[in-house]
Parts: sequence; C-alpha cells; structure tokens
Amino acid sequence: MAGRQSADAQDQRFPAAAAVPGVTVAKFGGTSVASAAQLRKVQAIIDADPARRVIVPSAPGKAHAGDTKVTDLLYLCHQLAAKGQALGQVWDTIAARFQGIVAELGVALDLSAILREARERIAGGASADYAASRGEAIHGRVLAAALGATYIDAAEVVFFDRAGRLDRRTFPAIAARCRIAGRVVIPGFYGSDHAGEVKTFSRGGSDVTGAVVANALDATLYENWTDVSGVLMTDPRVVAEARPITEITYRELRELSYMGASVLHEEAVFPVREKGIPINIRNTNRPADPGTMIVAERDAGNQVVVGIAGTKGFTVIQIEKAMMNTEVGFGRRVLDAFERLGISYEHTPTGIDTLSVVVADRQLVDASGTSKLEQVLEDLQATLRPDTLKVTPGMALIATVGQGMTHAVGTAARLFSSLAKARVNVRMIDQGSSEQNIIVGVEEADLALAIRAIYNEFA
Ligand code: ASP
Repeated sequence: MAGRQSADAQDQRFPAAAAVPGVTVAKFGGTSVASAAQLRKVQAIIDADPARRVIVPSAPGKAHAGDTKVTDLLYLCHQLAAKGQALGQVWDTIAARFQGIVAELGVALDLSAILREARERIAGGASADYAASRGEAIHGRVLAAALGATYIDAAEVVFFDRAGRLDRRTFPAIAARCRIAGRVVIPGFYGSDHAGEVKTFSRGGSDVTGAVVANALDATLYENWTDVSGVLMTDPRVVAEARPITEITYRELRELSYMGASVLHEEAVFPVREKGIPINIRNTNRPADPGTMIVAERDAGNQVVVGIAGTKGFTVIQIEKAMMNTEVGFGRRVLDAFERLGISYEHTPTGIDTLSVVVADRQLVDASGTSKLEQVLEDLQATLRPDTLKVTPGMALIATVGQGMTHAVGTAARLFSSLAKARVNVRMIDQGSSEQNIIVGVEEADLALAIRAIYNEFA
C-alpha cells in the first residue's frame, strides 16, 4: 500500500524514468542556427563540452537584418495552400535555404525526399502546426548529420493531451529514447497531439521543448544559446550599456518578464524549476561570455537589485471616500465593478480614504475597440457613492526587482532618492507582497529617465 502510494505521489510530478547522469541539454535559438557559419559555431560549442549530449535546435531564424525566419515562411505557405494558391517562390526560398546550408557545411545528407514530402503535405492542406513544425523537423536532421548525432523526431517523444497541454507520457518517452550512447538531436517547437497529429507549442516554443527535455533527463544544466550574452539588467534601448545579469532566481526572472522583459518563453521556466535545474542563457556569437544563470536560490550579496523593467500604457482610477476604511466590503465592491466588466487589474494601492486601481489600457477596451472606462466609472459611482473619482491616464509602471530587497535596509531610500535627483515625479508606489520588487508609477514621458536613474543607482 505504502509503495503504491509513493508511486502515485511520484506520478503527480514529472517522472524521469531513467535519468541520464551529468547531461547538459543545449537549446540553440533561431539566429544561432540561421546559416552554415552559425552552425559551425554551434558545432564548436558542442565539441567543447562532452556533457552537451542532447541538442534542441530551432528552425533557421534571421541570418541578417531584412531576412525572414523559416517559420514565418512556412506559415505563409500554409496560408497560400489554404487559399488554393501555389507555394511557388515561398517554398523555393525555404528549400534553397536548407539546401544551401547542407551544401556549405559539406554534410552528406540528401534532403530532397524530406523536402518533397513536406511541400506535398502542406500544399495538400496539412495543418498550420504541421507546416510550421517542418522548420525544426528538417533543420534537426541537418544538425544531426553535421554533428554525427542520432535524430529523434519530436513527434515521437513530445505529446499533448486532449486539452492541448503537455502530456506526462512525454517525460518517460524522452528518457527512454535518450538512453543511448552518443549525441542526440531533438527538434524544438512541436510534438504530437492525442490523435497523433503534429502540434506545436506557441511561437518561440523551442525554449519549452528544451526545458521539457532537461526535466525528462534530470539534466544538470539547461543551456539556452541565443544572440545576447544573457538577460540584461534593463532594456538596452533605454540604457545602451545595460550589462548582463550574472545570476537571477526563477522568481525574479518571472517578475521581470511580467513587466515586459522577454528572454525565454514564459512556459519554459516551469519544467526546469520543478527539478531545480539551472538555466544558463548563453551567446552563440560570444561563447566565452558566461551569460546569465537562472537558479532556484541565490546569495543576494551586494547585488540586491537584479533588474529593472518598465512598461507604458496604464491608467489609474482613484476612488476617494471619507471613512471608507470602516465600510465593510468596500474593497470588494470596487473590484466587483471591474470584474463585472471583465477587466483585470494590476495593482490596488490604498490610502486611508483612497483606493486606487491600476489597469492596463488594453483591459479598458472591448473586442470591438470601444472604451469601457465610462461604464466602469458609472458603475463605481452608482455602487460606491464616492466623494471623488479621479482618472489618471498615461502612466508607466517600473518594477525594480531583487530578492529580499524590501528587507534590505536603505534599498527603497536609494531607489526614491535616485528618482528625486532625476526630478521624476513618482505617482504611485507598490511594494510587491512577494518581497521581490518595488513598483513605481510615473508619467509615461518620464519612463526612460526613471529607468536610467534607477539603473545608475544599482548597476
Ligand atoms: N521556430 C519557432 C518560432 O519561430 C519556434 C522557436 O524558434 O522557438 O516561433
């Protein structure tokens, strides 16, 4: 009975049928595999460390500015086929891209049959997912041939259930198939659904495949090779010299990405986080750079603030009513008004007689583009009878993120004095209950100035 229970309990987690000891799963993104020259770099990276046994590639991305990603061309082919048009030049471009890479690398691989099958199926009405998946499927074969690795079709090991979620059968399937000597290439981005048809993750989903493979193999490390030397402390369009973060926890990264910093596919963290497998973001073009380590725990040391992210496009609705704090259910009635109109909110800072609701502007329009603001104000007026209702549009929110920063004496003081020195007017403050961040609201026009001030204080 006890044994049965523990087997069941284990089944609730992602099981790893047979761990492959000491393996590093290395995922290479679109720009890292965009050309033969890039694939040579990839090969050198893999050769440099025998632990890099399991490789997950994306489809070829942009090889230069103005280039088109193979995945985008494949979606285009699907659209052409759906309209009954010939794939013509679009398909020729895709085929030429793969064949050019193979020829330039000088690998003995004849792609003609694989390309022909893909074209015929897409032209014959195969799904958009099938079409898009061919970028990874075909490129995986190219990389496997170049590396002398075993190719494992992701459709045979990555499964989705009826609801479209990852099926747990995926984990033992990957573990079982990888229990072989030598290197393995598993293309990213797709798997198969309950009916055996090809299905993809959402865009950028090769990151998810890599994380799932790392989980299945109990990998010691999940390397995510891209074209930047890690997660930057802040947006380089705002702070040109923004430096990469050396170490960040999964939670801190989540706080940063929630505010718009995008590095990894959102769903790529959960599978590795569950097993405490670190993610290392690395730069294929600068392999000597250590990149960013994303870990379960870090020693905050002298790096209290790890990153700063900001986004425009928020509105603050402030409700003022004398003695509102004594009115039982006041807060609930405020939020009810938003809920009735299907508006989700970001923050609710409160004062003694005021309660503000911060809402993303896109939440304030319905599907037809009509504003819901008037409606929500009328509703608040009718149900709460406030003294005043004030709307402040054009707000930007900035999250300054760092584990335990709200406890570190002086952090908030440094943050606010840096803003004061830059003459930024802080309109709202929310100290995240996660103790991972402090969020300030500023006017949109002050966003860049504010981020620069905070960066200079903490970088
Ligand atoms: N090739 C796919 C895309 O462009 C998946 C990926 O690259 O991660 O979205």
